[in-house]
Amino acid sequence: MSTPFPTGTILGYPRIGRRRELKRAVEAFWRGEIDAPELESRGAALRRATRERLAELGLGRTDASIPESFSFYDHVLDAAVAVGAVPAADLTDYFAAARGDATRPALEMTKWFDSNYHYLVPEIGPETEFRLASTRIVAQFEEAVSQGFLTRPVIVGPVTLLALAKPSDAAPEGFRPLARLAELLPVYAELLEKLAAAGAEWVQLDEPALVSESLPESADELRAAAAAAYGMLGRLEARPQLFVAAPYAALDGTLATLAATAVEAIGLDLVRGAIPGSAGAELFDCTKDALKTKTLVGGVIDGHNIWRGDLAAAFAKLGLLRELSPRVAVSTSTSLLHVPHDVDDEPQLDGRLASWLAFADQKVGQVATLAKGLVEGASAIDGALAQASAALSDRFTAPGVRVPAVRDRLAALTPADFARAPYEERFAAQQTALGLPELPTTTIGSFPQTGEIRRARAALAKGELDEAGYTSAMRAEISRVVSLQEELGLDVLVHGEPERNDMVQYFAESLDGFAVTVNGWVQSYGSRCTRPSILWGDVSRPAPMTVEWSRYAQSLTSKPMKGMLTGPVTILAWSFVRDDQPLADTANQVALALRDEIADLEQAGIRIVQVDEPALRELLPLKRAAQPAYLDWSVSSFRLATGGAHTATQIHTHLCYSEFGVVIDAIRALDADVTSIEAARSRMEVVHDIRRSGFDHGVGPGVYDIHSPRVPSVAELTELLRTAAAAVTGEHQLWVNPDCGLKTRGYDETVTSLRNMVQATRAVREGA
Ligand code: GLN
Ligand code: ZN
Repeated sequence: MSTPFPTGTILGYPRIGRRRELKRAVEAFWRGEIDAPELESRGAALRRATRERLAELGLGRTDASIPESFSFYDHVLDAAVAVGAVPAADLTDYFAAARGDATRPALEMTKWFDSNYHYLVPEIGPETEFRLASTRIVAQFEEAVSQGFLTRPVIVGPVTLLALAKPSDAAPEGFRPLARLAELLPVYAELLEKLAAAGAEWVQLDEPALVSESLPESADELRAAAAAAYGMLGRLEARPQLFVAAPYAALDGTLATLAATAVEAIGLDLVRGAIPGSAGAELFDCTKDALKTKTLVGGVIDGHNIWRGDLAAAFAKLGLLRELSPRVAVSTSTSLLHVPHDVDDEPQLDGRLASWLAFADQKVGQVATLAKGLVEGASAIDGALAQASAALSDRFTAPGVRVPAVRDRLAALTPADFARAPYEERFAAQQTALGLPELPTTTIGSFPQTGEIRRARAALAKGELDEAGYTSAMRAEISRVVSLQEELGLDVLVHGEPERNDMVQYFAESLDGFAVTVNGWVQSYGSRCTRPSILWGDVSRPAPMTVEWSRYAQSLTSKPMKGMLTGPVTILAWSFVRDDQPLADTANQVALALRDEIADLEQAGIRIVQVDEPALRELLPLKRAAQPAYLDWSVSSFRLATGGAHTATQIHTHLCYSEFGVVIDAIRALDADVTSIEAARSRMEVVHDIRRSGFDHGVGPGVYDIHSPRVPSVAELTELLRTAAAAVTGEHQLWVNPDCGLKTRGYDETVTSLRNMVQATRAVREGA
């Protein structure tokens, strides 16, 4: 029971594979092309490759510094399956729980803290029976041992598992899954005992719920749960040593709670949170005493971003941590799940930019360097620290990082740039300009991305199709989509976004200040990956980005064509963003580029522009104290982007979630003329929030769920629309649209669904 915690480790490693091997294997299994044993063996091969790679990069083979953080789909689902909360006898069942099948709907999916990763939300009620239903985690540890690795199993901790779960349908009103903690703990105990018996020295329990102020539970409730959980697990006799990791923000007062238990190591996010005991993070003497007996694992390497960063400053933080405990280890602030594998996989990147970056493998190298410094003293790593500092200062002075013209323009902004004419005035001007009927119908922007569209884009990338050929293929698609919408009788049309690979990358590719990667995939959920762009320099728009497509689309119809842009917050949220200046400044640079784009769209005859901000809610800080400042800059950047639009130009925005209540003040402050928002899955409950809030601008609560192929009937759409129409107060306030873009849907269901939507709208207009 006394093997010390490894001096250097990471909280987790990307599991999708350097070339998305896991994605391919899992999808082949879903298509029936490979069987379960084959999928298992591909998973095992990936795990082995990960262990070997991590050892090669400097984590030890036999000191528990290599975490076992593999998952076939999602780590929250894995924990829920392990404790029997989600039944899954085999892999087929497991994926059915994640994705739904004929017998059960998919579990709900939502964002993992303030990252872009989505986890599956287990449903737990008073009836849920906990038992150790899967020992996969033990088997994977044994597999590692058989390969000569003494690794560290990782599992989502009991408090986080319950805090992230939602009440089952059978649960009574007001029930919270965390109420089941006492019954869940024995299952964790049994698992820990099994891991100890298998020879595990250390086990990592991830407890990010303990840092969040955005959960239904209060900090006091979470603290009480942590005290109960780690009090009980700490008292177990035959157990591995426990490492409780608290990534994504500061533990604050909960550090004292954990310190008072018998857990041996505590992981602190020192990228987001301050050193305990420093200003603003006071420690009581009893906690100080308790901490002296713990290993403090300093998460000083940013697991959430791709910058090489200030290694010397990171090392200095470990020095401060040593004043609290003689036992200090270095780690990443979060799992490396959020970053791509390896900068060396991006030979096309500018060498200078590449030297500023650290993806997962480089971050592991940084951990190994700092661990060496902890053991051998600072002088042993002088050279490495100096190199990192040199790269950092190079980044500050490199051309493109600070562009005077961009900075001057930002500095000259005045409050008037952030405001439009009063809404009433805009509303009247837009009514005259657009002549829209009651309950105008529209869509959110994208139409199905067909194989043909994707093939044309791939052919362009490979040089098999020239620019002109590509343009004519996209124009043909736009023209089809426009005719279809006219035939369906929609009122406000879109061009369908066929030219966009992704709603952020498309803009990143057109703007200065961004770089894109080739292999920089990051898991978004399950087998889905995204390739975030890198926002490294001052952002400006060398040329119009969307204008020609929109102009062409408008030329095909006399109905208003909506221009379609991605907003500054979403562009930031779905990219890796420079960390050398406030996000607010970066957002305003993006906003100015969008502002110019809107002016050019107006020039091209576009009278409605939608600026999508689906990520507005997602970037909301976990700590309440930080939320007002965030909402302030995020809203300002949207207002700056749209503030130059003519009074008669109608500005729409689209938000991808139904928690209207949480951000209502922000939504109101965006001052968009029309806001479309997801609502179908909540059966339009948001409409009541909208009414209660007194929101009086145009609003389009989505009338059907685009995440499912199900076609909504005219009758059900009519009913939903009637509910919505009765709830909103303003005349001409209600818009009719689906929940989100249609790009992942097929044409058959899209056409029928939209046809039903238009028919239902007509029925409600006519009072039928
Ligand atoms: N305009 C985008 C689309 O329709 C919006 C997507 C989104 O909200 N995520 O695809
Ligand atoms: Zn959406």
